[in-house]
Amino acid sequence: MKYFALAGNPNSGKTTLFNSLTGSTAHVGNWPGVTVDKREGVYKKCPEPVSIVDLPGIYSLSPYTPEEVISRNYLLDEKPDCVINIVDATNLERNLYLTTQIMEIDVPVVIALNMMDAVEKNGDKINAEELEKKIGLPVVKISALKEKGIDELMKRAYQACLSSRKGTTVLEGGSLIHLIRDCKIALEGQKVDNSLFHAVKLVELDELEVASHPESAKMVEEFKKTFSDDTFGSDFEAIIADGRYKYISSNYSGALVKKKRTDKSNLTSSDKADKVLTHKIWGIPIFLLILFAIFHLTFSENFLFIGAALPEGWVALEGTAAEGIFGDGGINSPGVILFNLLDWAMSSISEAVSNAMASGGAAEWATGLVCDGILGGLFAILSFLPQILLLFLFFSILEDSGYMARVAFILDRIFRKFGLSGRAFMPMIMGFGCSVPAMINTRTLADEKERMATIRVIPFFSCGAKLPILTAIAGGIVMQFGVGNADLITYGMYVLGMATAVVSVILLRSTTMKGEVPPFIMELPSYHVPQFKNLMRHLWDKAKHFVRKAFTIILASTILIWFISHFSWSWNYLPDEEINASILAGIGQLVQPLFTPMGFGSQLGSWGWVFVVAAITGLIAKENVIATFGTLAACITAGFVADEGLEGIDSVVNMIAATQITVPALIAFIAFNMTTIPCFAAVATAKAELGSKKNFRNTIIFWLCVSYVVGTMIYLIGSWWWTVFIFAAVWAAVITLIVLHNKGKLSIKLPRRRKAD
Ligand code: GDP
Ligand code: MG
Repeated sequence: MKYFALAGNPNSGKTTLFNSLTGSTAHVGNWPGVTVDKREGVYKKCPEPVSIVDLPGIYSLSPYTPEEVISRNYLLDEKPDCVINIVDATNLERNLYLTTQIMEIDVPVVIALNMMDAVEKNGDKINAEELEKKIGLPVVKISALKEKGIDELMKRAYQACLSSRKGTTVLEGGSLIHLIRDCKIALEGQKVDNSLFHAVKLVELDELEVASHPESAKMVEEFKKTFSDDTFGSDFEAIIADGRYKYISSNYSGALVKKKRTDKSNLTSSDKADKVLTHKIWGIPIFLLILFAIFHLTFSENFLFIGAALPEGWVALEGTAAEGIFGDGGINSPGVILFNLLDWAMSSISEAVSNAMASGGAAEWATGLVCDGILGGLFAILSFLPQILLLFLFFSILEDSGYMARVAFILDRIFRKFGLSGRAFMPMIMGFGCSVPAMINTRTLADEKERMATIRVIPFFSCGAKLPILTAIAGGIVMQFGVGNADLITYGMYVLGMATAVVSVILLRSTTMKGEVPPFIMELPSYHVPQFKNLMRHLWDKAKHFVRKAFTIILASTILIWFISHFSWSWNYLPDEEINASILAGIGQLVQPLFTPMGFGSQLGSWGWVFVVAAITGLIAKENVIATFGTLAACITAGFVADEGLEGIDSVVNMIAATQITVPALIAFIAFNMTTIPCFAAVATAKAELGSKKNFRNTIIFWLCVSYVVGTMIYLIGSWWWTVFIFAAVWAAVITLIVLHNKGKLSIKLPRRRKAD
């Protein structure tokens, strides 16, 4: 077994190459910083199996970011048999900067010139043979995306790994080379591996290096006193960086022959698009508009708002096959059409199963368990799969095209004022998919306090599992009260989640989590047409995950819910009509009063506990909220028949009819579920990422408080608009206190608090 490492700049295509080498489906994103941790897989077409490690993307091997440290330690300590240095050929000079550092390590290196398809499309040419001669390392042209040149690359890498290699440096002609050589000899005397690499880093007075070789560092410090360069004085790090860039531009750059461009086309279409999309003022409205368009395409029942323009009563399609395509007011959006299709299929299955069981003479409780408990719960959730996938398809397109990286860039300007860098936005956007990877991704944030604040607000970016809550309840509101549009409500809730995140960050960063905002340096990836393969991979992963979860955690939860809702405390089986005497109802009724300020507590009728119970089951997995409605809907329908089918939206409609819950309370219910303690998996991840117990405990309290405050505000203001003045006054007081405290005019003494430093 040989070990090869993939190293290169962020966004140079490492993960794409990794996936095509190992056949895995790691996340590829068109923005820097997607791969935070290293990842391994096996390539089988060499004479022996080769283990491939995908390292996080880095611009250099200095110790400034966690990624740089991970990659550097791997290359130096794990001693791979070969390093494949991926170079984005459309950005040759900048990428080769890292190459000049990697080649100083005593390890075989092969350079993969990636994105050759893009280079050729631009009409540029690269002379790989010439580059190979100048660098003295094998250079292979590839396109990771089109899977071209990959076997050739692996062949050369395998050849290279069979013999050893000593590090070489491009700093030979520079003013510091004598010092580097002296350091190298000193290190070799101490039997240090990779002496050239360490010597150069020592001369740069790199923190990690100085700490591990204090003796030799002293020698450099002594020399520094006697030395001065014309431009950089005695800043050795700068002198060395300059030396690398100069060498690259005078020796390597010639290999790239650019197509002659007329003045006009100097501005690439990417630049032109950026002029609009990252505009100072219009950038954010455009983002919000794009987001709305996505929600409209996914959830609208009045696609393109043409309903109003249509003559009254033009759709008389009730009961026909076309009913699913044409909604009441106009034409359904693609998302809704898919939803209706699946919903119809599932209702048919439920019906068939229930008929079969009835004619087979199954016991009442068995039919209830299978049809209402299991199928009701599962189908309530599964029916949302098409819309979830469609939404993710759009998000993937935004991400893969390179637009999301722009959004991070636009938001940086605003976030910075609130104490977050735009970098923190990437994990937040990942939170739209799932909080778990998003929280892990916060490792790219250098400032610990910023990282903690980000982890706390990630759950407010509504994840895929929360989507059914939004959709089902929005659908229920539209059906039962006839107000608003489903797409507007879901969109509004997403924006509300983001707004809550922003407000929370402001509060956190001005109270318990103060800290510097690190500068945000990110190059914007060039726009490209999203790759079909990539998109399908994302969707497939999402669908697999969702379905797997439905048939494991959610299935188990619905069965449990069904049982404890059909047995009393004395373990007697209860028929549907009597579930108000069940164990589940007992628990729900006990905690119900706590939710009264949010409108779904004691003021609801005798069925009100179902909302409370649903929210609690959401702590296991957020899909459970709607699955619980689905499971219990049949019992409730026993009194309040709203519709035959029990899937998704219908079960919410039943709940609304049974409890007489109001619109503000329903919105508060969504908001509560969106911002409260996330699912079990996300909580476990937060615990691991936050480190200390105290942080974790405070985070849980924080989530509870935020959801309670947001839910209460929505319900109270929604029900009695004048309460807005009370909230405004309270908030003004809170803000004044914080400002006064921060100015030192007010000292708040907290009990038992030790001094931080
Ligand atoms: P990483 O950050 O280095 O892991 O890069 P990724 O593998 O995530 O890829 C970054 C972006 O570059 C993605 O949008 C890929 O689709 C794109 N990409 C990767 N390889 C190629 C290639 O050979 N040609 C082109 N045109 N795009 C590529
Ligand atoms: Mg990657």
